[in-house]
Amino acid sequence: MSYVIKGDTGDWEVVVGLEIHAQVISKAKLFSGAPTDFGAGPNTQVSFIDAGMPGMLPVINEVCVQQAVRTGLGLKAKINNLSVFARKNYFYADLPQGYQISQYELPIVGEGEVVLDMPDGSTRTIGIERLHLEQDAGKSIHDMSPSKTFIDLNRSGVALMEIVSKPDMRSPEEVGLYLRKVRSILRYLETCDGNMDEGSMRCDANVSVRPVGETDLRTRCEIKNVNSVRFVMQAIEYEAKRHVDVYENGGEIKQETRLYDSNKGETRPMRSKEFAHDYRYFPDPDLLPLEFDDAFVAGIKADLPELPDDKKERFINDYGLTAYDAGVLVAEKENALYFEEVANGRDAKQAANWVITNLFGVLNKQGVGVSESPVSAKNLGRLIDLMADNTISGRLAKDVFEIMVETGKDPDTIVEERGLKQITDTGPIEAAIDKIMADNPDKVADYRGGKDKLIGWFVGQVMQATQGKANPGVCSEILKRKLTP
Ligand code: MN
Repeated sequence: MSYVIKGDTGDWEVVVGLEIHAQVISKAKLFSGAPTDFGAGPNTQVSFIDAGMPGMLPVINEVCVQQAVRTGLGLKAKINNLSVFARKNYFYADLPQGYQISQYELPIVGEGEVVLDMPDGSTRTIGIERLHLEQDAGKSIHDMSPSKTFIDLNRSGVALMEIVSKPDMRSPEEVGLYLRKVRSILRYLETCDGNMDEGSMRCDANVSVRPVGETDLRTRCEIKNVNSVRFVMQAIEYEAKRHVDVYENGGEIKQETRLYDSNKGETRPMRSKEFAHDYRYFPDPDLLPLEFDDAFVAGIKADLPELPDDKKERFINDYGLTAYDAGVLVAEKENALYFEEVANGRDAKQAANWVITNLFGVLNKQGVGVSESPVSAKNLGRLIDLMADNTISGRLAKDVFEIMVETGKDPDTIVEERGLKQITDTGPIEAAIDKIMADNPDKVADYRGGKDKLIGWFVGQVMQATQGKANPGVCSEILKRKLTP
């Protein structure tokens, strides 16, 4: 499934690397004790350190260090027992210190990898270049006054993990899969809530193009701060086509930072790209190098949960699911838990089918997650039991499921109240069949004359006559017997 841009001069491929800024789940900020709750009143969660007051000294928050190591392990990455915090100097009104404390030459986490589950069931591995810890800046609010900008420093000093990928992605689709997969891993690890709406996960995309077959990287542009998976994919598609147009018209791409305007569906220049030397990085003299021993890492490793890739593998082996279905089910931890509760002691493939097709269909339509599902795992399991013991047919089960969604009632009650129990008793089914055969002698003759496919029509008639309650197996058995002269 290679993604190619057809140009006038030939085929082009897109090359993308991502930088994800993920807010660390921690009660306090990276270097201060101020709280980090989302939605608090402006400037109510700001310590003197976060406000950049002179003489204040940063103190590293151990929880944030643990979270970064935990994330590194989840990304199968090299953990660096010695790392260094560096000052990244720049001026902006929402950065009162005049520099961001980040990591430059020696990050806490080195190279790792993320496995993408492709729609055809195959996988693709994207390299991780590094993960470093850094502070977030405050927030400038430009739309509250026509002449003033307001500054909210609540976010100032909040711990971020910057996760930098290698330029390994080759299509907007892969970028979408990568973002979702990283988010899924972070959520499993509980190191970042992955909530892009609230800004706790933001992403910058480095995009370039090159003719198919060329191996050198061409000049890239960085699209800053895109806050939804869909917008990132759209931005990359637009940006890649823009590069192709520029090259094919004899132009050159300037390295620059661009913004994506989701209303117009286009990117536009923000500023020319600054280079690392513009920031005058140097080790922060207020902080010692960050050092920990192997036991610290081992302790965190021992506490890791089962991650999506391992869970997927287990679902394939233990439940006999396809790679694709298993991938869908493990993407969110809550969904995987729900499925396992439904599948427990039942036909797992059937359970997967009901969860993916029927339940997710409803949840998507209602725009809610499995935690707000109108149908509990217990009740969906019962519905499958009712099919297994022939109380209801698969066809009726779909109706019962719809009523479960509307009313939240359990399937036993619904079947009882509405008299939906399947007729397996042959008497009423035989009677219905006799009547249908008597009313349709031509169809009977056609069937006997070799039109086997008419059996479907007869089953349909019996179902109609019994309001869908006839057991289809019993029904076709009797039909075949009676129709055979
Ligand atoms: Mn950064």
